Amino acid sequence: MELGACPKSMRYGPCGGVRTGGGCEVVDEPCPFVGRPLVEWAGTELAPRAIELPRFLVDHRPTGDDRVDRQVLDDYAASGVAVLLGDHLDDPPAVDRVAAAERTVDAGVPTIATITGRDRSTDERAEMIDGLLAAGVAAVLCVTGDHPSARFTAHPDVTFVSEGTLLAGEVRSRGGRVAVAESPAAEPTRQRAARLVEKQRAGADIAVLNHSGPVADVIAFAEQASALGCRLPMYAPVPVMTDLASMAALEQFPGLTIADDAVNAMHTSSDPFSTGLDLAVAMAGELLGSGSIAGVNLSGVATSGGAVERGRVMRRVVDAVTA
Ligand code: SF4
Repeated sequence: MELGACPKSMRYGPCGGVRTGGGCEVVDEPCPFVGRPLVEWAGTELAPRAIELPRFLVDHRPTGDDRVDRQVLDDYAASGVAVLLGDHLDDPPAVDRVAAAERTVDAGVPTIATITGRDRSTDERAEMIDGLLAAGVAAVLCVTGDHPSARFTAHPDVTFVSEGTLLAGEVRSRGGRVAVAESPAAEPTRQRAARLVEKQRAGADIAVLNHSGPVADVIAFAEQASALGCRLPMYAPVPVMTDLASMAALEQFPGLTIADDAVNAMHTSSDPFSTGLDLAVAMAGELLGSGSIAGVNLSGVATSGGAVERGRVMRRVVDAVTA
C-alpha cells in the first residue's frame, strides 16, 4: 500500500492500530508507515504549556441517562479524579459530546474531552472544539480515531479529514490545551517515543498512553520518550477489568497490549472481580511510585455491570491506591 492509500488518509502516521507484524488495522495489507523513517512535524514548533490535573484520569462513558450519569459524576467529583471523555464509535447515539463535557465540568470534575478526525468537516471540528473549550474542559485529546472496519463490519464510507497530530495544532490555534495519545506497543515500536516528541512539537501539552503491556514496558517507554526530549506529563494506562467481558472489550482494539500475566490471571481466577481489582490497584500503585509518569489513566469498561457499577469499580481502585 502507498502512503496516500492509508484508509485514514494519514500524513503523520502510523495510527495506533497497526497490527502485530506491521499490518494495517483496516485492510489486509502492510501499513505503509512501518519500515519508513519517522514522519517529522513540518509546521511551526510549539512548546508544551503547564496543565494542572489530578493524578487519576478515569475513562468516563456517558450513558445519555442524566440521572445515572450525574450519580457517577458526583462520586468522581468526591474522589477528586479527572475524567477522560471518549469519542467512541459505539457510544450511545443520544450522547451529545459537547453537552456531555458541560455536564462533567459542571459536576466539578476536571475533564479531558476527545476529538477524532473521523467524519467531521473543518467547520464541524471547529464548532466542536469551540464548544468543548466553552464548556471549560482542561484539555482536548486529539486522536485520529478508530476505523469502524477494524472492529465492526466493513465500513468503506467513513472519511478521515484530520488526524491526531494535525488536530493538536487545530485545538491549540483555537486556544485550548492539547492532549495527545500514543500507542507504545503498536508497530513500529522503535519509533513510538520519537513520534510522541513530534506531537509535542505540533502543540501537545500532555500525553495519554495506550495500553502497552506490563509496568516495566510502560515505564521504559516513558523514560525513552523523556530521553528523546519529551516534556509532556504522561498518563500511563491501567486496564480496569473485573470480568472476562470487560477484558475482551479492551482486547478487541488492534495495537493495544494487556500484560500476559494479567490476562492469564483473569482467565484462571475463580474470582475475576477481585483479581481484576487487585491487578489494577497493583499496576496503578507501581506506575505512580515509579517517578516516570505524571498520573494514571484508569481505562476500560471495567465491568459488564453497567455505568453505576463501573463508576464504583473505578473509585475502588482509586481508594485502594490512595489508602
Ligand atoms: S495501520 Fe493505520 S496508519 Fe497504517 S495504513 Fe492502516 S489505517 Fe493507515
